[in-house]
Amino acid sequence: MRIVDIQVGKLSLPLAHPFKTALRTVERLEDIVVRVIGEDGSMGYGEAPPTAVITGDTKGSILCAIQDFIKPAIVGMDLMDLPAVMEKLNGCMVHNTTPKAAVDMALYDLWAKAQGKPLYQLLGGARPAFETDITISVNPTQEMVRDSLEAVERGFTTLKIKVGKEGTADVERIAAIRAAVGPGVKLRVDANQGWTAAQSVAIIKAMEDKDLDIELVEQPVPALDVAGLKYVTGQVDTPILADEAVFSPVDAANIIAIHAADYINIKLMKTGGIWNALKICELARQHGVKCMIGCMLESQVSVAAAAHLCAGQDIITMADLDGPSLCATPPMPGGPVFDGPTISMSADPGVGVENIPCGTWR
Ligand code: MG
Repeated sequence: MRIVDIQVGKLSLPLAHPFKTALRTVERLEDIVVRVIGEDGSMGYGEAPPTAVITGDTKGSILCAIQDFIKPAIVGMDLMDLPAVMEKLNGCMVHNTTPKAAVDMALYDLWAKAQGKPLYQLLGGARPAFETDITISVNPTQEMVRDSLEAVERGFTTLKIKVGKEGTADVERIAAIRAAVGPGVKLRVDANQGWTAAQSVAIIKAMEDKDLDIELVEQPVPALDVAGLKYVTGQVDTPILADEAVFSPVDAANIIAIHAADYINIKLMKTGGIWNALKICELARQHGVKCMIGCMLESQVSVAAAAHLCAGQDIITMADLDGPSLCATPPMPGGPVFDGPTISMSADPGVGVENIPCGTWR
């Protein structure tokens, strides 16, 4: 099927609560959405969240990348030769992983629709449902304890606690949450690059000494400090998950080669989409490295695509796909069903999400 057009729209959705990490505070989700149109009129959808503090991609750069580089490169190509289209998408410019991801997932959506199958079945079909954690934002301790209890009340059994702003004071924060939720709840800690290597070791060892039973610590040190990441991983017993340190399959290969981290967090906005994410999954499988699938602050459109990847690939054993549950708006029709902690795949062809409330496509 020939690709005849690529169009963009703007999506603006209020969040139920402000989203706070060591890097930023956000109150509204403001994303670019994409649709790829096939010669038979069928459409595939994608989404690009402008997460400048992590990927460097802004609304303006996303629009420019799609309209001036990606669209001219791939319109006219035959989607059924997916490898050729993906190589072109990835080769038409360097970096710009967010716009590439949005177009990549729209292409996969359309490609699976053309075959009449839900995408996850074409990506390996590992499982029809799985559970996600939920993020607890950085706030005063009492507020984080309250948010944690609320999440457990809603059925979440794994909490991802954002820290990284206050060094060793973060330990007291986690201890208060552990005391409140009890031993049955899994706690993941995400420092979002907020600590130095020495701080990380001190903080993680303090959590180990207090028996806080932390499942993993995510990206303790700055993204480019791979030596620091390796140092931390070697010094502590708690598993370390690389997030901002791994964008591409090459990054993943380098981290795995020197055991700079125990696990890898795959996000479509870092890899540039499903095509490259599958390469990381393959590499991780070869080396027995467990992966998490994560998301930026994204709506259901792109999180649904990530859910298909997770449901397809059994090497992804942990999911952090809580974007849709952070939005205050009702769900869009079609695709995976997000019900508290449970994400269930549907029989809808493609990624499946339709009727994106984005106003005019152009
Ligand atoms: Mg993270």
